[in-house]
Amino acid sequence: MEIKKIGVVGCGLMGSGIAEVCARSGYDVVVREVNDELLQKGLDRIRKSMAKGVQRGKLTQEEMDAALARIQGTTKMEDFAPCDLVIEAVVEKMEVKKQVFAELDAICPPHAILASNTSSLCITEMASATKRPDKVLGMHFFNPPPIMPLLELVRTILTSDETLQTAQEFGKSLGKTTVVAKDTPGFIVNLLLVPYLLDAVRALENGVATKEDIDTAIKLGLHHPMGPLTLLDFIGLDTTLYIAEAMYEEFKDPRYAPPPLLRRMVLAGHLGRKSGRGFYEY
Ligand code: NAD
Repeated sequence: MEIKKIGVVGCGLMGSGIAEVCARSGYDVVVREVNDELLQKGLDRIRKSMAKGVQRGKLTQEEMDAALARIQGTTKMEDFAPCDLVIEAVVEKMEVKKQVFAELDAICPPHAILASNTSSLCITEMASATKRPDKVLGMHFFNPPPIMPLLELVRTILTSDETLQTAQEFGKSLGKTTVVAKDTPGFIVNLLLVPYLLDAVRALENGVATKEDIDTAIKLGLHHPMGPLTLLDFIGLDTTLYIAEAMYEEFKDPRYAPPPLLRRMVLAGHLGRKSGRGFYEY
């Protein structure tokens, strides 16, 4: 199946990055937010990210202008009507995602593939909100999508071979390497990453070391590009909390239980970089 027009639901941290990647690869993109203010904020994020790319020589000013011209921002779901593929990147909450999938199913053409960028939630449950479960799969991008080279594809027992193949070709067209995981909480990357991040919060909570020393130890001792608490600030503490809750709900394994400190920081509005304060200040 040929994909020409892409829809992206949500223009937050991930939605804006996904819209950028698609537009830079030559696709026409429709991106939706819930209101004008959030939409403008998201579109601004895309502009700034591309401008940074120009500064670093990753794309030319002409390419940036052309990519921006391919992006249509909207607050209306109906604008997804001409899309061949819609990627959902709204908050990590199943009720919200199911509602989005049901609406997309009613609006999009029958051939359209509906994908979720969820980090941990059940794709089969989202597929069940549609009448096209064979055309539903997970397309898990990594933060920031324009830079991270991996695209994790998540296949449910209902996803058709054709849908998976189209998604693999689409990933390749974005310059990403794809891997395929089954629909199990956390897929491949978060299954391994989330317990590690939660352990870092527990280490801080238990006074094992300062946040700076925890990050420095992992950076220099394991040669990671950044420590776990810095990474948590990048991912978003709220998003991490929702992911951990979803994984704990499914596995009932204490490794996935959100530590009290994480929950309290989210309640306090310390969400990481996006709110200006997480473990560190920005
Ligand atoms: P975010 O909070 O930055 O953005 C979510 C956006 O969705 C918000 O701006 C919100 O207004 C919008 N939204 C909510 N309901 C909507 C609707 N019905 N229509 C349109 N927009 C709607 O969160 P994020 O970090 O971008 O995460 C989005 C998804 O991506 C989550 O499922 C998350 O698990 C996943 N994800 C996140 C990361 C990460 O590092 N943050 C990485 C991979 C995947």
